[in-house]
Amino acid sequence: MDFLVYGGSVVTMGRLGVVRDGAVLVEGDRIVEVGRSEEVKRRNPRGYERIDAEGKIIIPGLVNTHHHLAMSLLRGYADDLPLKEWLEKWIWPVESLMTGEDIYLGAKLTAVESVLGGCTTVNTMYHYAPEFNEARAIAEVGIRGVVGHVCFSWRKDEDIRLTKMLVEKWHGAENGRVRVSVDPHAPYTVDPGYMRELWSLTSELNEKYRDKAPVIWHIHLAETMDEAEKVEKAFNVDVKDGVVVYLDRLGVLGPIVIAAHCVHLTDKDIAVLASRDVKVSHNPVSNLKLGSGISPVPRLLESGVTVGLGTDSVCSNNSSDMFETMKLAALIHKGVSMNPALMDAWRVLRMATIDGARALNWSDEIGSIEPGKKADLVIIDAMKPHMRPMYSEVSHLVYAAKYGDVETVFVGGRPIVENREVKTVDVEELITQVSKARDRLMEKVRR
Ligand SMILES: [Zn+2]
Repeated sequence: MDFLVYGGSVVTMGRLGVVRDGAVLVEGDRIVEVGRSEEVKRRNPRGYERIDAEGKIIIPGLVNTHHHLAMSLLRGYADDLPLKEWLEKWIWPVESLMTGEDIYLGAKLTAVESVLGGCTTVNTMYHYAPEFNEARAIAEVGIRGVVGHVCFSWRKDEDIRLTKMLVEKWHGAENGRVRVSVDPHAPYTVDPGYMRELWSLTSELNEKYRDKAPVIWHIHLAETMDEAEKVEKAFNVDVKDGVVVYLDRLGVLGPIVIAAHCVHLTDKDIAVLASRDVKVSHNPVSNLKLGSGISPVPRLLESGVTVGLGTDSVCSNNSSDMFETMKLAALIHKGVSMNPALMDAWRVLRMATIDGARALNWSDEIGSIEPGKKADLVIIDAMKPHMRPMYSEVSHLVYAAKYGDVETVFVGGRPIVENREVKTVDVEELITQVSKARDRLMEKVRR
């Protein structure tokens, strides 16, 4: 679709900053021109569908750097429990009963939920099932995603087989909208030998798919206070300098790594994250809900680490709302540091857009509104009482805007949401299917 959006405030997250009364010209799946409405219109007097965005804000699609899409089937199933009990008594037993179709439905629900909130790219770690899976859900809803199969020491052969199948079928699929990652679950569930084996697999895959896109490495890291101790106990290794230092000694860190959480870090850990250019996904809502703690994000940023934002699964959130996550990310560090100058709105919005894209090694195509990039655009209605008056678009996006203010969403130039209506999926039908899947699951749990 070729179109011209004009008349709104374009928050480019690129060189042009915020362009008031701005315009974005899209040809096919790419942005070709960005600038003042008057000029862009003058240069392109005809041939494009015109979308009047007066009173609206146009932003690049938000990037959610850590999720488990399929887990939305368990939204609200178990809350307010310690992490170990929550996982071992509640979440893992039900997950073991989930079929591929459940995974697909849960992922589809989250993909729809995400795009209705302006999120166009998700990074998700879950179990891959050949026919019905998260990648298929992402493809059908029409968003962008990095999909990984979660790997554990206790099922090595199966994991490697499934990861290879996933890569073969989905890496670069859907005109590049779907990418694949290698996902060791965490340092305490993946033994050192297996960790190295998965790293070699990642290198092999990157060699093989050099011309397509990077195969990134997605891992949970330093989430809870006792993680180092758990790793030491499980594998009889030395983790006294921190879990990041431990992984570095294994030789499994580099710029393609995105580490989710990074709450409990030593000074040495932070230095290694910076020197290896490891990317961090900050998940403030999940870390608070699970009582894990608060990631030292201001220190990470000061050290030069690229930090994106994530919601984590809706089991520990319980939504995929990136606006809520942005606001909390801006507020929480001010509160604990008693410093209101930390984590300003611009910084936080970067984390949800261009830095999130960098964190996924995808910033050459997404994360900002600039010529040559994919047309992932979100139009936000700013003519609402809670969005008026307007001094700063960036301030409003982080502190005032809500999930429901997202009006229209394009992914690669294709309208996925128009006036809050999802164009690619029958949402009512999806909700009916999800309810049935929930009932089937609970039936199995009772047995
Ligand atoms: Zn997670």
